[in-house]
Formats: sequence, C-alpha cells, structure tokens
Amino acid sequence: MAVVAVQCPACGGQEVVRYGRQANGEQRYRCKNVDCERRIFLARYHNTGRLPEVKQQIVDMALNGSGIRATARVLGVSPMTVMSTLKKKRRRFTR
Ligand SMILES: [Zn+2]
Repeated sequence: MAVVAVQCPACGGQEVVRYGRQANGEQRYRCKNVDCERRIFLARYHNTGRLPEVKQQIVDMALNGSGIRATARVLGVSPMTVMSTLKKKRRRFTR
C-alpha cells in the first residue's frame, strides 16, 4: 500500500485514502476517522502554510515561546514554512 503523506485538515488524522477526483481534476481524499467532521477534502486544503490564519498562528506560537519544530508539528506545516513566515514578520516589525 502506498503511503499518502496527507493529513486531514479537520482532525489532523493521517489515516487518509484517495477518493477520486473533482471534475476539475483535483485529487480528493477521504478521512478514515469516523469522528471527523469533514471526511472528504481536497489535497490543496492541506497546504495550510499559505493561509493567513496559519501564519498568524505561527507568529502567536513564536511569541509564546514555541520552537520552530514544535510549531510546525502542531500546525501541520513544514519547519521551512515556519521559518520563512517568521523572517517576513520580523522584517515588518523592525522597520
Ligand atoms: Zn479527519
């Protein structure tokens, strides 16, 4: 069985299976967590590092003393995303 490196955006579960495609060709996934509120989602929703709310959360966690790795793990983004987000913010703050 192929490992799908996709997390459910609703519950964070990694028990996720491919579930066909949208009419526009986007890959859909289904969460196997029976308690999950969302169940079916698109792969692009997984790219949460680009969403403004997540960037705000990254900054908030940094201000609360969370490390880059911990922040990345909790928010489900890559450490690179955390670092680049904080760098951009810091530039804005110090100007
Ligand atoms: Zn889920």
